Amino acid sequence: MGEATANPTPVIDLSSVHKRYQTERVDVHALRGIDLLILPGEYVTVMGPSGSGKTTLLEILGCLSRPTDGVYRLQQQSISDLDGDELAKLRGEEIGFVFQAFNLLPRLSAVENVELPLTYRRVSRRERRERAMDALDRVGLARRADHLPTEISGGERQRVAVARALVNRPAILLADEPTGNLDTKTGEEVLALFDQVHADGNTLVIVTHDPKIGARAPRCLTIRDGLIDRDIRNGEGGGR
Ligand code: ADP
Ligand code: MG
Repeated sequence: MGEATANPTPVIDLSSVHKRYQTERVDVHALRGIDLLILPGEYVTVMGPSGSGKTTLLEILGCLSRPTDGVYRLQQQSISDLDGDELAKLRGEEIGFVFQAFNLLPRLSAVENVELPLTYRRVSRRERRERAMDALDRVGLARRADHLPTEISGGERQRVAVARALVNRPAILLADEPTGNLDTKTGEEVLALFDQVHADGNTLVIVTHDPKIGARAPRCLTIRDGLIDRDIRNGEGGGR
């Protein structure tokens, strides 16, 4: 209410999304009918017990896997209309991923890690370096550009991973337990960075089991047994 703009188009639009894992040995109905709209610029956390389907949902949002039933529209494009290559291209352009374990390549420097998503696209070497340095600057680590992952702290590694996720200017930043391997203080640094990324206008979806993180985001989803249990909007500004 009160916004002068017309209804913005959702970045993410899930309708009755199901995911079943079926093998010879197991049959798990991990998502059981998820309806979800996320608008540009929203900051959403996803909480819920272990095994409730958080990672499965994030993998679908990130086009790493497809729903077994239901419709997922990313930027209005139904992903079931796309073949594997088209989906990979869409993922590369629209999604930035941050993982619990950072997933940096150990033999590459910070700036080389950040450049990686650009090497799969037709971007000149010089522009790659410039854009990677800009992204490192955004996370406050330009001065660590030439350091290897082993030569920086855990929190700094995760900030490099955030820079890598942002370097393509994706529509959405997704993170799965991004502070799970960090101590409280270092985790705080990374969360402050997410606040800043949100303030810059990016759309974020962060999976966490930490209620403190859930409470600081403007919107918090809770998942239980593969269904959205609660969808709460916190007070203005959300957080501290
Ligand atoms: P969470 O991230 O909330 O802990 P997950 O999305 O990882 O939950 O898992 C949801 C359910 O799906 C769990 O019961 C899990 O065991 C099952 N599951 C996840 N991935 C697979 C898979 N590749 N094959 C079979 N079952 C899976
Ligand atoms: Mg998980």
